[in-house]
Amino acid sequence: MSETLASPSRPCHTEVVASKKRPRARRRASAQAARRLAADRERLAALEPGGSPERPLEVESASIVEPRAVDLGCLHCDAVPRVEAQDAVRVDDRVLRRVRLRCRACGAEREVWVRIVGRAVH
Ligand SMILES: [Zn+2]
Repeated sequence: MSETLASPSRPCHTEVVASKKRPRARRRASAQAARRLAADRERLAALEPGGSPERPLEVESASIVEPRAVDLGCLHCDAVPRVEAQDAVRVDDRVLRRVRLRCRACGAEREVWVRIVGRAVH
């Protein structure tokens, strides 16, 4: 039973006492930050499975190529993308699926590389 826990909460009054940024500059700064963040996420995604032909996402059958690619989501806003195209692409001695996604929300494009691996073969 502590008095401090029950202390009445006062409305929090905040006041900007000094701000040199005008709204437009602030918007520009946040757009820039968002772009930087998106670029970072794209760089990271390229290192993850599906991000490049060297590191394809591995799935067990052709029927789950697109669902798995879509599951990765949009790098910019996390919305669910839709499949624009799926191509079979020969990379060195193997054939990979390249799934092109476009975000339903922000329109960002993304390529996901997928390799279909047989269940028994190793
Ligand atoms: Zn998006």
